[in-house]
Amino acid sequence: MSIKTNLESIKQTLPEHVTLVAVSKTKPDESILEAYTAGQRIFGENKIQEMARKWEALPKDIEWHMIGHVQRNKVKYMAEFVSLVHGVDSFKLLQEINKQAKKHDRTIPCLLQVHIAQEETKFGLDENEVNALVDSEEYKQLSHIKIVGLMGMATYTPDKSQIKKEFKYLKAIYDNLKGKLPDISILSMGMSGDYMLAIEEGSTMVRIGSSIFGARDYSLL
Ligand SMILES: *Cc1c(COP(=O)(O)O)cnc(C)c1O
Repeated sequence: MSIKTNLESIKQTLPEHVTLVAVSKTKPDESILEAYTAGQRIFGENKIQEMARKWEALPKDIEWHMIGHVQRNKVKYMAEFVSLVHGVDSFKLLQEINKQAKKHDRTIPCLLQVHIAQEETKFGLDENEVNALVDSEEYKQLSHIKIVGLMGMATYTPDKSQIKKEFKYLKAIYDNLKGKLPDISILSMGMSGDYMLAIEEGSTMVRIGSSIFGARDYSLL
């Protein structure tokens, strides 16, 4: 199946209020252009330098989302252009994004990443840390970032009830946070294997890679 066909069939399954991020990490520019030609404008990458290179090379009306773990010392390479940072998991990182955004006279939209999976290896804050962060005076001083929602990744498991439980948990944290930050509007959850479930549980943004572009071949990198 072509990228265009894959994109079209996925888009047919998405309700209007759900935004599709096409996850193009490890994929060549030609594949991204194929999706672009089919109308896709939002792409997600998980390595800052790879994203910056693609931003340089590809059409300038693409919105680039950073969906991976962010190293603070690399924020400077994306501050000029990144549209949304999904994986913010510390105040220090938020501070660095704020600092670099200021240099470019921008406000960078950010999602706080919440740890919802059972695996230890997935990054993210817990609910108390999310609340402590947004309640802090230091956070209120940051004028060049804006927290626009939350992001989470469910456990990699065939157990649908486990995944559903994790998505429900993230949605509950999101709803609570709306009490403090009424402007938040993005709940980024769901990937190729679980996005339908995520939408049922309240996702407003899905990050889909392999179902659009095919399996990733890391041996080529
Ligand atoms: C790679 C990745 C995705 C996309 O995964 P697929 O299973 O290929 O759809 C989504 N979110 C994050 C954070 C990722 O790193």
